[in-house]
Amino acid sequence: MSEYTLNVSDLTKTYNAGKPGEVRVLQGVSLAVEPGEVVGLVAPSGAGKSTLLQIAGLLDVADAGTVEIGGQDMAGASDRKRTRVRRQDVGFVYQFHHLLPEFTALENLVLPQLANGVSQRAAEARGAELLALVGLSDRAAHRPAALSGGEQQRVAVCRALANSPRILLADEPTGNLDPATSDQVFDVLMRLVSETGLSALIATHNLELAARMDRVLRLEEGVLRAG
Ligand code: ADP
Repeated sequence: MSEYTLNVSDLTKTYNAGKPGEVRVLQGVSLAVEPGEVVGLVAPSGAGKSTLLQIAGLLDVADAGTVEIGGQDMAGASDRKRTRVRRQDVGFVYQFHHLLPEFTALENLVLPQLANGVSQRAAEARGAELLALVGLSDRAAHRPAALSGGEQQRVAVCRALANSPRILLADEPTGNLDPATSDQVFDVLMRLVSETGLSALIATHNLELAARMDRVLRLEEGVLRAG
């Protein structure tokens, strides 16, 4: 069994293979994230960051290669198992918050826990705890539209952590925010990751933010290089 939280090996992915418009996005990508390690992923737009994160987070499948999460090899795993591991072990943060608009901030943190079998009461307690950690206790009953962009993204970070995943995958988590708000959200994200000992793979265009991570990888022309 691997000691890595996330271990992907020799991933390849081509869109529209063999057709006009074929895009060879990943051409043998391997990376391993250790427990508690925060790895930055830097790449030009269109280089395949989202594709890599989606495959690593079991939302998409590679043409070839392996994905292991917490030592569990996902090659050949059933859809049911992939869904279970994704819900329990992977947290996602995207560029846009993707909170459910008709639910409050707290409800947005409760729902993914209910889907994971947690009781309403325990889910509310966990949600409230997370909101307190990001300084949003007084916004618990607000719907996303009544929150600022930075607040929405802080709630989205809480949602990613609600089920206490093994790994956080973030795709330009501050890419939609002005520089000051981006720094604030990034500080919150890094603080939560380090306080909980979580592993993270964080894609960003922002080289200053990337420099604050333990290690940076560049995705270029379908392969990863040390940054
Ligand atoms: P990034 O996140 O680095 O901007 P993406 O992983 O979103 O890159 O996309 C990598 C490349 O693959 C881009 O050229 C994009 O147009 C292409 N691509 C992404 N998804 C699809 C798809 N479903 N079908 C065809 N091409 C796609």
